[in-house]
Amino acid sequence: MVLYTTGDTSTYPEKPPERGIRLHFLGGAGEVGNVGCILEDRTGTRLLIDYGLAPTKPPRYPSEAPFVTDAIMTHGHIDHIGMAPWLTGHGTNIHGTDLTAGVSEIMWADTYKVSDIEGYPLAWDKRDLEKALDSWTTHQFDTWFKVGSWKCRLHRAGHIPGAAMVEIATPEMRILWSGDIDTRDSPNALGAKPINCDLLCLEGTYGGRNHPDRKMEEQRFVSRVLEVVSRGGTALIPAFASGRGQDILRILHREAPNLDVHYDGMGTRITREWLKCPEFLNDPGGMEATFRWSRRVTGKADRKKALGADVIVTTSGMLDGGPALWYLNRLRHNGSNAILLTGFQAEGSGGRNLLEFGRLPIFGKQTRIPLEIDKFELSNHADHRSLCSFAKECSPKSLVIFHADDSAAEAIEESLASEMKVFRPSNYETMELSR
Ligand SMILES: [Zn+2]
Repeated sequence: MVLYTTGDTSTYPEKPPERGIRLHFLGGAGEVGNVGCILEDRTGTRLLIDYGLAPTKPPRYPSEAPFVTDAIMTHGHIDHIGMAPWLTGHGTNIHGTDLTAGVSEIMWADTYKVSDIEGYPLAWDKRDLEKALDSWTTHQFDTWFKVGSWKCRLHRAGHIPGAAMVEIATPEMRILWSGDIDTRDSPNALGAKPINCDLLCLEGTYGGRNHPDRKMEEQRFVSRVLEVVSRGGTALIPAFASGRGQDILRILHREAPNLDVHYDGMGTRITREWLKCPEFLNDPGGMEATFRWSRRVTGKADRKKALGADVIVTTSGMLDGGPALWYLNRLRHNGSNAILLTGFQAEGSGGRNLLEFGRLPIFGKQTRIPLEIDKFELSNHADHRSLCSFAKECSPKSLVIFHADDSAAEAIEESLASEMKVFRPSNYETMELSR
């Protein structure tokens, strides 16, 4: 089902701005995910950064993009690349790292499948997906490439392997677009480093909130796993396919190599793509050894065997589908088993229902889950403290906060307003910033 047609944007101005840089959020301003932002200057150079959808129920889509020759995809999460096949179907070239391009096929195919199963409309079809795969121009970090009269280069963003920040040199000013960032090193990705700029566009997912110490949280997580295993139970660990699942495996391999850990779902295919791009991984040899150590589930027989494992790491991270529900439906009958949640559980998701009401839908039927449930904070986003010190070290004159709900953006504004001009944009509105 096609939601919109090309060139028919109702709110994007037809003419370039007279001066400065225009920013126009198609999505991702005042909300987490669903990101897409057009940047344009008086030369008519126009660039779109990210074009995702928020995988909520029903999904949220950004508004229609005006025609752009070039778009940069910061990383392979669906809330940043989910709508890219629509763009390429209309002739846009997409830029990103090799790793992001490598995982995009798996992510798009999954989005297509889920929208089909759940009956949600999607603005692109299989033919667009094929075209998208041929529309990538990939770049190494720290290498300039031209878009119109601008020069762009990608820098490491932390967050997940292959994730990029975008530095843009325009005649008017130097811009840094953070994408999703983490300044800390994680098991699989090294952290982002600040870059001097005039305008910083910063994600603010964790504005106003600080993470517990990462190492201590990892220890708490491993202790809980060992506790479950020592009482004869299986720890079911629902984890996102792109990032969290692999981090969990690395932690378990490092801290408890004697455990019998089975790895199921889309993450196994994503990991194979990661291993083809070792230059983007923190200790690629370690990830390869960990992947070999885990018992990859490839079919029904493997899945039955996994029911007797110490640990099962699988998708979906929010218990909205995937093998996690198949396992949960069987593991729920033995009280020594446990569910260890390792990521954000969106409102309305299976995981959130489980936390709030002790039940969730399994194959359409509300099912009570009488198992121990614990939650761990192993986020791959910078927290409030880190976002603010990162922003200060980039020493911009202006800061635009996106990928944040209102209270998170407000908290960042409060911390930084004395040092730089802070803007909190709205979707579908045009802002023009000058030096
Ligand atoms: Zn992300």
